Amino acid sequence: MLEAARQPLRSLKMPVPEPGPAQVLIRVRACGVCRTDLHVLDGDLSEPKLPLILGHEIVGVIVETGAEVRRFAEGERVGVPWLASTDGRCRYCRRGQENLCDEALFTGYTVDGGYAEYALAHENYCFRLPEGYADAELAPLLCAGLIGYRSYRLAGAKAEHIGIYGFGAAAHIITQIAVHQGKRIYAFTRPGDVKGQAFARRMGAVWAGASGERPPEALDAALIFAPAGPVIVDALRATCKGGVIVCGGIHMSDIPAFPYRLLWEERVIRSVANLTHQDAEELLSIAPQVPIKTHVQAFVLEEANEALRRLREGAIEGAAVLVMY
Ligand SMILES: [Zn+2]
Ligand SMILES: [Zn+2]
Repeated sequence: MLEAARQPLRSLKMPVPEPGPAQVLIRVRACGVCRTDLHVLDGDLSEPKLPLILGHEIVGVIVETGAEVRRFAEGERVGVPWLASTDGRCRYCRRGQENLCDEALFTGYTVDGGYAEYALAHENYCFRLPEGYADAELAPLLCAGLIGYRSYRLAGAKAEHIGIYGFGAAAHIITQIAVHQGKRIYAFTRPGDVKGQAFARRMGAVWAGASGERPPEALDAALIFAPAGPVIVDALRATCKGGVIVCGGIHMSDIPAFPYRLLWEERVIRSVANLTHQDAEELLSIAPQVPIKTHVQAFVLEEANEALRRLREGAIEGAAVLVMY
């Protein structure tokens, strides 16, 4: 439980919540630890529900359904992502941009999330998960995978040489999909992160280096998962004409000023916010085809503060996941 920004999480005994009419009650089996959790913890994202249970990469089994739930039954394994609900009525929802909904609620930010034994979720934002995966292996797909996939998709199907800046949970999933689809991945890490670069090569990157370096081939697109504004300028220098730079993070440090000639020739910088049903359904059907193998470091629920600390230090290879059994 987060009680105030910049405080460690506290372990509390709480009553099991009751599902509302359109909600399901989930016995949480695993919950991923995401960089966004650090941004909530640090107060970079300034309007959390408080006190708050963090966690928006929930894998669990439905143990109770609300009176109006139609899509799911007790006993089904589901995943719950960052987007918790939308109003279905605003200008964005009406034109199919549910990810931009004015009234959206967010798991582990404006509603309680999955660093817990039980969680509630709206049935419209629960997703069936592929068979053949352990609970902990699926958790990183629900944010790192989804936001990563949306970033990759918005880089455009024509992109062949793709740079990835920041090689953590999202990058290691997207690299596997991209390589499966015949793309060439160039991985950029913090300077000196030799281990991270070796990990990227093992995941299928054709080249790995430091963020300021020029890759051997100009990039058609760059996906930015590092929360550092200056890498956008590095990425602009590394892209070819028409190159697309997609920022997948919810928070970044400031982007330094740069000369217009770096953007010239139809280069594009854009961000990605949240996810849509299309992103989730596509990713979860692609995952077993690739097949995506997530690289997970498991922690028990009581070690949540430790998992967050290691993520902050860049000491997690792949994704950190809390397991509840
Ligand atoms: Zn809406
Ligand atoms: Zn996340």
